[in-house]
Parts: sequence; C-alpha cells; structure tokens
Amino acid sequence: NLTQRLARVMKTLRGEARLTETNIADALREVRLALLEADVALPAVKAFIAAVKEKAVGEEVIGSLSPGQALIGVVHRELTALMGEAHTGLNLAVQPPAVVLMAGLQGAGKTTTVGKLAKWLKEIQKKKALVVSCDVYRPAAIEQLKTVAAQAGVDFFPSTVGEKPVDIARNAVDWARRHFYDVLFIDTAGRLSIDDAMMKEIAELHAALKPIETLFVVDAMLGQDAINTAKAFDQALPLTGVILTKLDGDARGGAALSVRYITGKPIKFAGVGEKLGGIEAFHPERMASRILGMGDVLSLIEEARKGVDEQKAVEFAKKIKSGKSFDLNDFKEQIGQMRKMGGISSMLDKLPAQFAQAASQLPVGGEDKIVRRIEGIINSMTPLERSKPELLKASRKRRIAAGAGVQVQEVNRLLKQFEQMQKVIKQFSRGGIGKLMRGVKG
Ligand code: GDP
Ligand code: MG
Repeated sequence: NLTQRLARVMKTLRGEARLTETNIADALREVRLALLEADVALPAVKAFIAAVKEKAVGEEVIGSLSPGQALIGVVHRELTALMGEAHTGLNLAVQPPAVVLMAGLQGAGKTTTVGKLAKWLKEIQKKKALVVSCDVYRPAAIEQLKTVAAQAGVDFFPSTVGEKPVDIARNAVDWARRHFYDVLFIDTAGRLSIDDAMMKEIAELHAALKPIETLFVVDAMLGQDAINTAKAFDQALPLTGVILTKLDGDARGGAALSVRYITGKPIKFAGVGEKLGGIEAFHPERMASRILGMGDVLSLIEEARKGVDEQKAVEFAKKIKSGKSFDLNDFKEQIGQMRKMGGISSMLDKLPAQFAQAASQLPVGGEDKIVRRIEGIINSMTPLERSKPELLKASRKRRIAAGAGVQVQEVNRLLKQFEQMQKVIKQFSRGGIGKLMRGVKG
C-alpha cells in the first residue's frame, strides 16, 4: 500500500530542506500508483498529481517534519480539499414537500438509502417523510421500498407496475402537498449499466418534478467504472449531491475521488451498512486517509504543523542538515515547541509503538512544571555552555544548579536526558517517515 511505498521512496528524500520537482518525482510516482490501486480513475489521478506537484514544490520542510512527511502532508491536504466540504445535509429549503430524487445504477443502494434518509429525517430532524417508488419494471422493487418504509417508520405511497413513472411521481407530490409532508423521496429504477432509456426516463422525471435535491447514489466498490457512471448521470441530470454507499466493505474508496473529479458535487452521506441505521455524514478527511491507506501519522503531522513556529523550525532543520549538532539551545527550543503541541504525551499516543518507546525516554510528561524546571536550568547556562555541553564539569554544574535553584543531581539528570533527546532527534531526522511509517498498521 501507499504507506509502504512511500516509506521506500522517502529514504531518497532525507536531509532535504525543501521539496523540489526532482526530489519528489519518485514519491509522486508512488502516490500515483497507490491511487490507481485504490481504483481512482486515471484522469482523476492525473489531475490530482498535478495539483499536488504545484502545491508541494518549493514548500519548506518544517521543524521535525522530514521532507517525506511534508510531502505526505501536502498529499493529504490536497486530497481532503478535493473531497470537498464536510457534510452539509439535505437541502429542504423550499415550499414543502421538498422533493428528493434518487439516481444511480441498479444495486447502488438507492432504495436502501431512501429508507436510511427518511428514518434520519424522521428521528433526528423531526420531519414528516413520504416515499414512493417509480421502479415500475420489477414488482419486487416496489415491495422492497414498502418494506423499507415500514422499517423506517415512514409513509409509503403505493405504485404499480405498468404505471408511468412521471404520473406516479406527480400523484405522489400532489398527495404529499395535501397531506403536509415535509419531504418526498422519489426512488427510481436503475439498470445494471448506463443506457439511454434509463437516462431519458430519469431526465423526464427531473423535468417534471424539479426536485430540490437530485442525489447520485454510487457504490464505493464500483472501482474504475465509477467515473463513467458519474459522467453519464452528471450529464443527464443537474445533480445536487452524491451518496457513497457500501463504505463498510473493504473498498478503498477511490470511487469518491473519481466521482468528485467528474461532478464536483458534494458527497453528502456515506452508506456504512445494510441496516437503516447504516448512514453517516461524509468526512472528507477520513476518506482521504482511507484512500491513502494511512492512519494517525497524518494527524501527528498536522499537529506538528500547527504547533511549530515555522521560521524557527526551518532554521532548526537547516542546522541539523548542515551537520551542526543538536545542542542545549535547540533542546530548550524544542521543549518549548513540544509544550505548544500539547506535550509529549499527546504526541506519544499517536506514534507507532517502537518509536514511542524511544521517545518515552524523554524527560517531559507533558507537564508544564517539569518543562519550566528544565528551561530554568538551561537558562542558567551561558550560551557557550549550551552549545558545548561537554564543558559542563563539576564547578560549572554547581553554579548552574545554584542559579536555577535546584540540586546538582537535577542538572546531571537533565544532561542525561538531553543526550537521549539527541538520539531521538537523530532518529527523526535520519529515519524520517520511513521509520515512523514502518510501525503503522494498514
Ligand atoms: P438499488 O438497486 O439502487 O435500489 O439498491 P438497493 O437499495 O436495493 O441495494 C442493493 C444492495 O446493496 C442491497 O442488498 C442492500 O442491502 C445493499 N446496500 C445498500 N447500501 C449499503 C451499504 O451502505 N452497505 C452495505 N453493506 N450494503 C448496502
Ligand atoms: Mg431499488
């Protein structure tokens, strides 16, 4: 998966202070392959890679981030942006009934989703929903909606095989209006593949009903075909949103990216189960992580980004790169930055086990008091002593201890901790993302 792929190429990125077209070329090739493996359609992959390249080149590698981490940060950010806004719900802002038209291939999950949404509207939004089936080709389809409506506890408007879909829908709207329903769901017929008759029929339904929401329901397992299906429905209908179903399966969700790329429409909900409770708000960030196949390392990167004073961090990265060793001045600064990030303990929670173990040797438990004490001791040193800790012999230690109001042992302990920190920093800067990633599941 992408994690492993990147771990490999990240090795080549070590020690660079800035992302350039050359040093990210290999990594981007891996991202591209990973997206194709996640079943994102090729045109969508190309567009995405181009966007990442543009954003990444020239980006400085901040603080404790290795160039590899920085690139993954950009990839993840762009992917999240492409996934669109967080869940916005259904638009019901019309004179009732708000008509919601469902579109999609057979088996996509339209009928099930009608049940889910109607139940959600009824229970959470306290809306009165009516459902009707225009799937007049299979008696079983109408029966299925009737069953689903009963499970959802919402009303079902009967229809029969052989009626004209537009007539059924018009009658249902009329009924809904006269009986004060807030929302009317129009379930439609789908075919196993795109065909003109289906597109014509649903376009006619749309023209007759002028629904406030026209939702494209698409199976997340659809893979490469998602792009053609989305294209056909997007051309036939002015879609207002997308519902991605079957995300409870093991689909990586590449379809999400393809569909967004084609329609540009918000993905409003995610189907996560066969039962009527199996629906969730769509989370762009989570989807991006799922497609990339990575977990908490990303949130760690985001936090590092937030917490680190960028300018200082860049200098710090350069210093490490230039071979100048990590000294007590840097130590003090790093500790300050860790405090900004909510302490080491909150970082440790997110790190893979074997790395966290190394980092747990560090002095601070996220508690301000200890951190201040350390800062106090370092403050009592001269700048020369801070950059050359080996100068710190007994008499200097006594002076520093007195200045900071602590025992000499505490100064010793700090120096020992500093040495350990040096080691961890080395791991961070040399091992980079590879080391971090290897411990991450998935
Ligand atoms: P339609 O032909 O578009 O109306 O699709 P259906 O609503 O009949 O769903 C087709 C199949 O997919 C049924 O077996 C559903 O139970 C199943 N299904 C729908 N949505 C989901 C989902 O989010 N997760 C899972 N696991 N199954 C789903
Ligand atoms: Mg159906």
